[in-house]
Amino acid sequence: MGKTIAIFNQKGGVGKTTTNINLAACLALKGKKVLVLDIDPQGNTTSGLGVDKRAMQTSTYDILATPNFNIKDAIQKTRTKNLDLIPASTALAGAEVELVNVKGREKILKKAIAKVKDKYDYIFIDCPPSLGLLTINSLTAVDAVLIPIQCEFYALEGVAQLISTISIVKKNLNADLKIQGVILSMFDGRTNLSAQVVEEVKKYFGKKVYKTIIPRNIRLAEAPSYGMSIAEYDPKSKGAEAYRDFAEEFLEVEGEL
Ligand code: ATP
Ligand code: MG
Repeated sequence: MGKTIAIFNQKGGVGKTTTNINLAACLALKGKKVLVLDIDPQGNTTSGLGVDKRAMQTSTYDILATPNFNIKDAIQKTRTKNLDLIPASTALAGAEVELVNVKGREKILKKAIAKVKDKYDYIFIDCPPSLGLLTINSLTAVDAVLIPIQCEFYALEGVAQLISTISIVKKNLNADLKIQGVILSMFDGRTNLSAQVVEEVKKYFGKKVYKTIIPRNIRLAEAPSYGMSIAEYDPKSKGAEAYRDFAEEFLEVEGEL
């Protein structure tokens, strides 16, 4: 049975998508079977993995809103071996409104994912930066949440709300939901601020914080415009090295190394 993980932080631009693409690609290159499900209407994971948002026929939207849709029909291969994708389309933005009166709407994704869980080692969901129904569906569908936090001044702003959202979902929709870990991203070694943020986040989350810290690295920002993970775009870059280390540590924590 595969493990399902939502990459979640309702704060925008903290490195969710970058972490999703690159962790997933690193694990796939290590031979794990990985599925990435993009549930963000921005579709950044979709384009970052080289899939043209305009050319696709089926997407996460269909899983949520098309009656009798089979999730298997939304799965695409990517250029990376072992890495499959369920793309997002802008139509997803409308799904929240369309589902307002649907009974059991928080559990649609959970039911769909159950049908493919045994085909993968890991399924990652890239959440949008919001707390609406798309995020609630994601948190209800998964075993655990991976939280990226950006090393910047307001890093911990919103963390209380994030934790409260997780607690509400645990209480009402998904009693077994766990925190997989916290990954610090966009670390700038030249500033004291970044180092301070690392300390603060460690104080707050304790052992849940991964030792690996993702540095700010321009190659990581460039790779998505070529539709490639960093491992393919520039495997020798500091960013690629960091995500390889992170994938190792991720598996170690999972007890797989
Ligand atoms: P959103 O909330 O909008 O979905 P996000 O949390 O998914 O954002 P990303 O899209 O991963 O965040 O990152 C935000 C921006 O920062 C992107 O332009 C990305 O390329 C860039 N970025 C992410 N991580 C790094 C890094 N380690 N070094 C340099 N740039 C980065
Ligand atoms: Mg994103």
